[in-house]
Amino acid sequence: LVSREIKPEGTTIEVGKLKIGGGSFGIVAGPCAVESEEQLLQAAEGIKAAGGDGLRGGAFKPRTSPYSFQGLEEEGLKLLAKAREKTGLPVITELMNLTELDLVEEYTDIIQIGARNMQNFGLLRAVGRCSKPVLLKRGLAATIEEWLMAAEYIMAEGNHQVILCERGIRTFETATRNTLDLSAVPLVKSLTHLPVVVDPSHGTGKRKLVLPMAKAAVVSGADGLLIEVHPDPAHAWSDGEQSLDIPDFQRLVGSVRQLVKWR
Ligand code: PEP
Ligand code: MN
Repeated sequence: LVSREIKPEGTTIEVGKLKIGGGSFGIVAGPCAVESEEQLLQAAEGIKAAGGDGLRGGAFKPRTSPYSFQGLEEEGLKLLAKAREKTGLPVITELMNLTELDLVEEYTDIIQIGARNMQNFGLLRAVGRCSKPVLLKRGLAATIEEWLMAAEYIMAEGNHQVILCERGIRTFETATRNTLDLSAVPLVKSLTHLPVVVDPSHGTGKRKLVLPMAKAAVVSGADGLLIEVHPDPAHAWSDGEQSLDIPDFQRLVGSVRQLVKWR
């Protein structure tokens, strides 16, 4: 079902004004985690004004340490819904557990499956029976074949609205958080009709690398971007080092849109 051989034209995923794939380019941005109403609304309004198309934010966070902030859970989902109401931006948030599926599906416009759950086949099958589009992140050390097969799990259950997200893979390199595999973009797009977006924030872990890799992602043929943006990155509860502030995000949108026009 994922194969471009059976569907030569690119698939477009459309939620409100957000359009990704089939020639459309979408920019989704927001904080790593929803922290408070003030933080999220500031981010959402800044992103909207800067020209972003969608709002991201985690309410259930997959943290390396069980003692780190785990997310505001349902309260976070409610804040995302409030931010959508205020800005009109469609919302994307991560689903981590089967037990939270109904709750997340109720509030979000797009369900994110994180890198750590890319091969959680029960979870993939369950979102495959959902009515909402799914953004499927590439696993921490997943091959392209494994990533596409994970998308196949979702589609096999009937949900054909899948967006693939390259977010860097683990290599021997430690200078960056992950190694952003941009060669995956044209390669995967030759194999599948599904849209492919790039997350240069988790892909690099470094704020300074986000703009150059976002631009490179556009040139590589990506259908969109997922960018971590925080109104005050220095005080972010998670992933502050890779988060852009609103003015930097606005500059990114400007240069990215130019590149999209020219390609
Ligand atoms: C995220 O997008 O907040 C996230 C946790 O990403 P990943 O699953 O790619 O690590
Ligand atoms: Mn993050």
